[in-house]
Amino acid sequence: MVRGQIPALLYKGFCEAIDWVYPPVCAACDEPGFHLCPQCQSKIQFLIDNKHPNSFGNHQKMVKNNYMNDLPDTGLRSLAVYDGVIREGIHAMKYANNHGISHLFSRWLANMVKDEGWLLDLVIPVPLSTERVKERGYNQSALIARPVSILLGVPFSPYGLKRMRNTQSQVGLSAEERRANVAGAFQGVSEIVSGKRVLLVDDVTTTGSTLEACARALKKAGGNFIFCATVGAALLNDKQLSKLESVQV
Ligand SMILES: [Zn+2]
Repeated sequence: MVRGQIPALLYKGFCEAIDWVYPPVCAACDEPGFHLCPQCQSKIQFLIDNKHPNSFGNHQKMVKNNYMNDLPDTGLRSLAVYDGVIREGIHAMKYANNHGISHLFSRWLANMVKDEGWLLDLVIPVPLSTERVKERGYNQSALIARPVSILLGVPFSPYGLKRMRNTQSQVGLSAEERRANVAGAFQGVSEIVSGKRVLLVDDVTTTGSTLEACARALKKAGGNFIFCATVGAALLNDKQLSKLESVQV
């Protein structure tokens, strides 16, 4: 057995033990025995090779062209459309303390990152504001990112990126407002990230403004490659997309 596989096997055993003590129920339909039952999983729109659907292709293009085009050596990939079952699963994790489902998301994200073939030195979650951590008791991005680091055998470094100020919720803000809201809100810690290839993990991306602000901060601190991975990607309607197109960077 390869030495690096031991933590991943211990982690798998830990998850199985927790499920044995606290049997899971499907986060979307309450079917016992699953974090997400097969029927609900079959409804998820996985974003395989970014070929599905067209509107996501546009979204991806908008993020890359408008927000991260002057940031070389960056990458972004999301697992599935943020809708239906994925939205319910993420809500269960964020608002109902369902940590079991975060382990499922972590396994899927780790496999997605392996498929991408990204070479990594550190895994960093997008930091949550101190206000939100107090309110929720945990950072949902860290909840996903830590198991991803174990499964990939890449060190977990939550202190490599700091949130310098609290920001208002991005929900309901336009693309421009989102960008202004998070601009300069993060700072990379050069002692930790300098020269490193970083995997940045978040639960959901919409316009990519938070990931962009984080990637810029990590780059400024000397980060080498910044790859972003999220569970959900919110699809933008035509009106939102045209608003994004009007954004000049
Ligand atoms: Zn279900």
